[in-house]
Amino acid sequence: MLKSHTCGELRADHAGQTVTLAGWVNRRRDQGGIIFIDLRDRWGITQVVVDRNVNMQAHDSADRARNEYVIQVTGLVQRRPAGTENNDLPTGSIDVAAASIRILSAAKTPPFYMNDDARIEQEGLDESVRMKHRYLDLRRQRMTRNLVLRHRAIKFIRDALDSQGFIEVETPILFKTTPEGARDFLVPSRLQPGKFYALPQSPQQLKQLLMVAGVEKYFQIARCFRDEDLRGQRQPEFTQLDMELSFVEREDVMQLNERLMTALVEAVTPEKTILQKPFPRMLYKDAMELYGCDKPDIRYDLRAIDISELAGKSGFRVFVENVAAGKPVKVIRAPGLAAIDSKTRIKQIAAELEELAKTAGAKGLAWMALPLEEAGEVQGPIGKFFTVEQKLALFEQAGAEPGDMLLFISDKRDIVWAVTDTLRPHLAKQLNLADPNVLAFLWVIDFPMFLWDEENQRWDPSQHLFTMPMPEDIPLLETDPGAARGSQYDMVCNGFEVAGGSIRIYDRALQEKIFPLIGQTMERAKDQFGHILEAFEYGVPPHGGIAWGIDRVVALLAGEPNIREVIAFPKTQTGSDIMAGAPSEAEAKQLAELFVQVVLPEETQA
Ligand code: ASP
Repeated sequence: MLKSHTCGELRADHAGQTVTLAGWVNRRRDQGGIIFIDLRDRWGITQVVVDRNVNMQAHDSADRARNEYVIQVTGLVQRRPAGTENNDLPTGSIDVAAASIRILSAAKTPPFYMNDDARIEQEGLDESVRMKHRYLDLRRQRMTRNLVLRHRAIKFIRDALDSQGFIEVETPILFKTTPEGARDFLVPSRLQPGKFYALPQSPQQLKQLLMVAGVEKYFQIARCFRDEDLRGQRQPEFTQLDMELSFVEREDVMQLNERLMTALVEAVTPEKTILQKPFPRMLYKDAMELYGCDKPDIRYDLRAIDISELAGKSGFRVFVENVAAGKPVKVIRAPGLAAIDSKTRIKQIAAELEELAKTAGAKGLAWMALPLEEAGEVQGPIGKFFTVEQKLALFEQAGAEPGDMLLFISDKRDIVWAVTDTLRPHLAKQLNLADPNVLAFLWVIDFPMFLWDEENQRWDPSQHLFTMPMPEDIPLLETDPGAARGSQYDMVCNGFEVAGGSIRIYDRALQEKIFPLIGQTMERAKDQFGHILEAFEYGVPPHGGIAWGIDRVVALLAGEPNIREVIAFPKTQTGSDIMAGAPSEAEAKQLAELFVQVVLPEETQA
């Protein structure tokens, strides 16, 4: 080894030992006869002192070294003189007096200060610069910490599942289309001209086939590929903890995963608080009605409360007409949002929220601001349409207090949901209601089996086509598919779906019933899923499973807003790796070997 210790390891009781360290020059201070070098490796930083009067050669090398040079230092560990210790560094009570320094590799001036996270946080750093030099970006303390955290989380999961009798089984990357509702990445086959593999959107079919194979308890840290538009934080390839168990019911899978998640958080990030244990459970329909989405952030309240009955009797025509037409009226209470002394400012806040609501499809956003003093007036244009009694009843239903702002949403149900879902996170941010150290897990259950696809005039599975309907809803598949619930469960945390799974259909006849509902001919279904249907004829254990979005889980644990921060080499928003330059054109010879011809759309042709 070119080093005897790491740069994070030495303490006062190493004083007197001769050690060899190697790493990067994090910083260098030249004070004439003495040069100080902060030497960095993955484990930390150690101060090296180079005194010209003690060692000319070492001083010469230190003199030539610059930031990010890779050097090797041999020297004596010594306690720092009293008063010069650095309490910010775990190694701050010692330094190493260099006896010799070897420059192992020089460095150009880096394109950004990766040795100064604080400065980067403050000044910002262009994402494309970071991505182009990702290997430098990953040298930053924050990124190193994320890589280590990810490793620890995955190791914890592997060990925990191993100790419970699970085995990790690798499944192929070159496979056949797997339906998770996204577009497949295709890989042309050279050996079979004109044919293509699909990269798996998930190991769904394979893990089910492993259940038919008798594995009973399977998991895999699995890479998945979905060729979707990269809205939000999606990545074309991402990592799942994929899991499948035989002889289980919904409750078994949920409890096992809840225990695993709880143990993971407690082991890897004990500084985080889990809001509620056991995780609360919420029906899909309640999640939609109260929070406007199926993955609510419940670190804060901000629920949409249905006041249709009361509002329908008010004097406000829009509400009265909407209620008569079956459109709900809901109110969100924004605590303390109007607790300010300026009517103009309150109006301005309401106007900004209205603009935001419009982006989600609302025509407008009615509001009331409660005064801070008992005697004060309720502010807002619709106040006059409610009698005093109605207002009191309204405040009671909404739990309103002085200084609160009430926001009214009334429209078609799906617009009310969209507006609710847009306003809640915004208000939470504005009012500082979401504690970053709290993890608010919950389960959402009783999803509809299918959602109606207006464009294609057919039902789409709300999870995937292998999900078992709730047993009591099976007859509904024939009569009212939209009302059938699936045995799906999603684990949600802080507004993200962190895991989702279901109990599966294990009966060929029932599986075959699903295809026509989702607009597939039996012929095509057999072509795509014949192997599963056939396997279902050879003794299938009842089974179910789940998949965690590992990137999202690690991002939540790391307190990172974007999953790109916890993926070593992520793609950008356009699906590119700008460091290596992928995707890139293929050579004519490669294409010919694959029997592939490139036909560019007209607008990209020169
Ligand atoms: N295959 C599903 C997914 O990738 C998860 C599951 O049902 O286990 O979302």
